[in-house]
Amino acid sequence: MARKALIAGNWKMNGSLAESRKLVSALRAGLGEGQGGEMLLAPPYVYLAGVREWIAGSPILLGAQDVADRHGAGAFTGEVSGAMLTDVGCTHAIVGHSERRTLYGETDEIVAAKFKAAQAAKLVPILCVGETLAERDAGTTERTVSRQLEAVLDTAGVAAFSRAVLAYEPVWAIGTGRTATPEQAQEVHAFLRALVAARDATISADLRILYGGSVKGANARALFDMDDIDGGLVGGASLVAAEFLEIYRAAT
Ligand code: PEP
Repeated sequence: MARKALIAGNWKMNGSLAESRKLVSALRAGLGEGQGGEMLLAPPYVYLAGVREWIAGSPILLGAQDVADRHGAGAFTGEVSGAMLTDVGCTHAIVGHSERRTLYGETDEIVAAKFKAAQAAKLVPILCVGETLAERDAGTTERTVSRQLEAVLDTAGVAAFSRAVLAYEPVWAIGTGRTATPEQAQEVHAFLRALVAARDATISADLRILYGGSVKGANARALFDMDDIDGGLVGGASLVAAEFLEIYRAAT
């Protein structure tokens, strides 16, 4: 893998303070010095400060699961700005996760605004794209992921992708136990890379594209062996230290 692997754990709305601490401690113990790839944890907002403390002195990176789309500060109840996330030690923020798009009505425009807001706060956005099962069955996967990606490319510009990570997450594979085959994933990853290459070949060649959707220790290596898969965005399996470490090792 020419690009440095990134294995990101999206804890979603799971865990407690005590469980989070235990998980980080087990990851640190199993990680050792790290093996060349990067490991990132994206806990719920309220645990960011704790996780920052517990990963101190380790190579583990901290990320947020979301970021406010506009406004640096003010009367925006419930929102968390990019500057606040940087302040508590985040280097990355996930934007456009399918759960945000489908359950909270985030449009391509909102996702593009979040991408820009993250970068304005010096965070690396991890931009998620992916088709639903109905779209895959209808043969419109490429149309969906290109619409989602182009919305951000048009708004932020291709140069912004030299400071971003892309994640292909087929919605039908998230939390379902049904993983895309390595070939299915590679096909979409290569398509996404080509879309970026049409605007800038150098940025495209360096862009990390993660796969997400029921990644586990048992299927990780076959996915990461694919040319255009540069690591994983992991939900459920990131809550189990042994499983997440196995995935991390499969990428490095
Ligand atoms: C995710 O939430 O980004 C994800 C890929 O979840 P899971 O690994 O549980 O499918």
